[in-house]
Amino acid sequence: MEIQVIGGGIIGLSIAWRLARRGLAVAVHDKGPMASEASWAGAGMLSPNGEFRTPSVWADRALRSLEAYPAFVAELEAESGVSIDFRICGTREEDRWYPEEAQVDPRGVCAALQAACQARGVSLRPHSPVAAPAAPAVVASGAWAPGGCAIRGTLLGYYLEPGVLPHIVRRGHHYALQRNSGFVIFGSDEEPNVWTYAPRPEGVSALRRAAAALLPGLLDRPPDEVWTGLRPSSPAGDPVVGAGGAPGLWNAYGHYRNGILLAPVTASLIEDAVTSSLGTG
Ligand SMILES: Cc1cc2nc3c(=O)[nH]c(=O)nc-3n(C[C@H](O)[C@H](O)[C@H](O)COP(=O)(O)OP(=O)(O)OC[C@H]3O[C@@H](n4cnc5c(N)ncnc54)[C@H](O)[C@@H]3O)c2cc1C
Repeated sequence: MEIQVIGGGIIGLSIAWRLARRGLAVAVHDKGPMASEASWAGAGMLSPNGEFRTPSVWADRALRSLEAYPAFVAELEAESGVSIDFRICGTREEDRWYPEEAQVDPRGVCAALQAACQARGVSLRPHSPVAAPAAPAVVASGAWAPGGCAIRGTLLGYYLEPGVLPHIVRRGHHYALQRNSGFVIFGSDEEPNVWTYAPRPEGVSALRRAAAALLPGLLDRPPDEVWTGLRPSSPAGDPVVGAGGAPGLWNAYGHYRNGILLAPVTASLIEDAVTSSLGTG
């Protein structure tokens, strides 16, 4: 019996990897290339303190997922042979300092997940849309999940000297972070229910002004790259993770602004739910 994972973003791939490590046969289907939607676009801030302002189940899970990240990355690198740009760098948010916060390159994580999945025998099936999942299956189709919706975000990228930005800088929902290569990412805005990808010029101008307020050196400098992505939202606003509407179906979508951060904890929740239901726990 093969478990079908619908959606090959960071959430579906993390789940597939974990299930395969438990000895289960798994296939991951994506309607397009693997990991080319929100998980390709995400900035990779692992910043629960600025994202979850009030106590909640998901605020706790976000903190647990941040704690799990170093081991998640280490295991993934060891199994895949792919090195991942991950750094516990801390976040400065006006007068607050969160030293335990981190950043990761989501494209690197997804490349490593695909290699680790293949090494574990997972069948990766790009360009194979699934209209109606047949049990056993995990729905991890992001903004396209039933009832899901897209909240588009735009990011700006600048090639700067490495070390210019040793930690994440935040002001509300605006932030800047720097990859080890020197590439600085600045974000972001929110456009609910926008399903297209071409950035709006006025949105880019507003972001450029906000970027210069955080990093004054960017005032007159056009970004080297501009891209958008569709954050997957859910009707209630929280991730939808757990049993689905029928036996043998599970859901894992709606991670909105924090799916990169929440990948390890989501994969663990689904791993536990699937293995206990199938009697392999
Ligand atoms: C601009 C921006 C900045 C962000 N910054 C951060 C950040 O700093 N930190 C953070 O933690 N998160 C961030 N996020 C959010 C994060 O990127 C997402 O929450 C996360 O990538 C969601 O992962 P996913 O696998 O659920 O969705 P996706 O990566 O969108 O994957 C879903 C996949 O399902 C596939 N699919 C859809 N329908 C079907 C179907 N019928 N059959 C088969 N396949 C299907 C899609 O093609 C897609 O590949 C950001 C997002 C954006 C857009």
